[in-house]
Amino acid sequence: MQPHNAQKNWEMNLVAEHSQLLTLLARAIGEPNLLQTGDLSAYERDWRGRSHGKALAVAKPAHTGEVGAVVRLCAQHGVSIVPQGGNTGLVVGSTPDETGQQVVLSLQRMRQIRAIDTANKSITVEAGCVLQAVQEAAAAQGLLFPLSLAAEGSCTIGGNLATNAGGTQVLRYGTARELCLGLEFVTPQGEVISALSGLRKDNTGYDLRHLLIGSEGTLGIITAATLKLWPMPKTQLKAWVAVPSVPAAVALLGLAQQQLGDGLTGFELMGKFALSLVAKHMPQHRVPLWPGASQDNPYSVVLAFDTEAPDATATERLEAFMASAFEAELVADGVIAQNLAQAKALWHVRESIPLAQVQEGLNIKHDISLPVSRIAEFCDQTGALLAQELPGIRLVNFGHVGDGNLHYNVQCPEGGDDKAFLQTQEAKVNHIVYQAVHAYGGSISAEHGIGSLKRDELPHYKSPTALEMMRAIKQALDPKNTLNPGRVLGDL
Ligand code: FAD
Repeated sequence: MQPHNAQKNWEMNLVAEHSQLLTLLARAIGEPNLLQTGDLSAYERDWRGRSHGKALAVAKPAHTGEVGAVVRLCAQHGVSIVPQGGNTGLVVGSTPDETGQQVVLSLQRMRQIRAIDTANKSITVEAGCVLQAVQEAAAAQGLLFPLSLAAEGSCTIGGNLATNAGGTQVLRYGTARELCLGLEFVTPQGEVISALSGLRKDNTGYDLRHLLIGSEGTLGIITAATLKLWPMPKTQLKAWVAVPSVPAAVALLGLAQQQLGDGLTGFELMGKFALSLVAKHMPQHRVPLWPGASQDNPYSVVLAFDTEAPDATATERLEAFMASAFEAELVADGVIAQNLAQAKALWHVRESIPLAQVQEGLNIKHDISLPVSRIAEFCDQTGALLAQELPGIRLVNFGHVGDGNLHYNVQCPEGGDDKAFLQTQEAKVNHIVYQAVHAYGGSISAEHGIGSLKRDELPHYKSPTALEMMRAIKQALDPKNTLNPGRVLGDL
């Protein structure tokens, strides 16, 4: 047979195979829940607009049984699946490639809160539940679900667990991993594993929950989770301070941990340039002490102090901490929010930075973590090296510094062409930043994951033996490479 005929036959077989699969999928989940035509860009484009793929179809199952059916059918037909929650991920992990041959499996219809157990302090929710809805369901029972991030109005619990999301309260409560007691998930073969008991102790062999958490949709589809809850703190206070340097901010963190103890739930560092973007693009969110100390100092910190103590006692404690910080010359100026509205406004400024930087244009993003003790040295050395290699660049530096996580983003010089800067300088900038992160004992992905974006960087910074074990796990659980192929790991 002529080679071009062989190719043609192969293509025809593929079309027939796909058409058969789509018919079966539509039958399994109902025709209206299998999107094949119309504008699918919301499912095909990543949040940052860095990647625009093409899906064979978008399947939106209503319950775990339907997820199992979709996975089974796709596996049988050799079609790969890209799981998707709120599609707010920042490493290009939840959108299809350009081939038009992958099925996006959206969990968006699975939004039920299955149960709240107030005595066990746990909540069981479906994977498509939006994070904010889970926080609100817990709050309605006087309980706290502490995972909190700027995308909480649209990201989902499934996505949070699949990426092991961090956010602003890791310092006190840990990452999504530490908040999860149990999982229900669908294997790459379409089997359902349900372990939603809500137990805090269960040493019965390998903990599959921890394998799934942070696996970015490559080992199974999370369909539900049981999550830990806490009593809602009686008092929730926020303070904002301007600091003269990163070492001062790190020393301030130590002082806050000493004086506020467990009550310190968030400690967010924000560089002056990052704040200037909020002031410029979102003037409705007034940056505190701007003009003033926040504008006159290179960094500001917003911190959260949550406690069981009544308001007056907690405020006294926070004021005493602020007085010690002034005395130690760690802060230039500061304010304590006087009421809930002010507290929300302070926090909102921090949460507006990611959106404000989008409005300024594209930049080269790094979600890195470092030992807290080395953050100051890292910032000093890496900032100097970048300025020397790329004069005029501007750093959008902010992050959850309380747990060592910085969003260390590099913007082109004022008036420069951001797209051209990204195209020509990204590899060089990444090399400088990641080499420094590695040298200081840090991680190239603190909380966003690897996806496609950092996949090719991973082998430079992860031990070959660790990568080999990761590949062995993927091959053992998903030998057909059905789930999110090419994410996290490259060729198997
Ligand atoms: P998606 O983007 O849909 O998917 C993310 C990954 O998880 C993909 O690999 C996908 O295949 C997989 N996945 C999704 N659902 C499932 C499932 N049910 N089963 C298996 N795999 C699944 N992240 C932080 O950690 N901390 C922050 O502070 C933070 N701030 C952010 C602020 C903004 C403005 C934005 C846009 C994003 C931010 N993020 C942050 C990143 C993002 O919100 C998180 O990664 C979030 O956890 C992703 O949830 P999602 O539902 O949108 O997942």
